[in-house]
Amino acid sequence: MTGGWALRAPCHLRDGFTVTEDDWKTRADLKRLCGPQLPTCGPCPFRALCIATVKPAQAKFDGIAGGRLWCNGDVIDALDDVSDEELAEPKLRASCGTEAGAKDHTRHGESPCLSCRQAVREMTARRKEEAEANARAKANGPGQLQFEFATT
Ligand code: SF4
Ligand SMILES: [Zn+2]
Repeated sequence: MTGGWALRAPCHLRDGFTVTEDDWKTRADLKRLCGPQLPTCGPCPFRALCIATVKPAQAKFDGIAGGRLWCNGDVIDALDDVSDEELAEPKLRASCGTEAGAKDHTRHGESPCLSCRQAVREMTARRKEEAEANARAKANGPGQLQFEFATT
């Protein structure tokens, strides 16, 4: 884990939050090995940041992050008080890469993925260009307005 916040997290310098490939085979093994560490996340104020950093679903993470126990990127156990709002990790959908995709992320309490962010940036830039062109056309009068439309 990176960032100054990780140094202040309750799990700092504690072991058993993740496993190596040789340590386990089944979900039960994972629960036995990492489960006892789950309560450590209870008072942690960085759960959302932890999930955003580890990206457990995308990374197919095995171990503890953000008050949840993950196995191959799925939550298999969690503290009682976890909230979906802590799941800031974007899920990739068919709508990704569009403005609608960015809205889908927001609806699911996620930050937009890279391609949705790019789509929003491009649309924002295009709208700005159009607004500027319209403002120029207005300033130049109706004759110029026709000219601007004719050339776009
Ligand atoms: S949520 Fe849990 S694993 Fe993540 S930083 Fe906090 S204590 Fe550590
Ligand atoms: Zn997306």
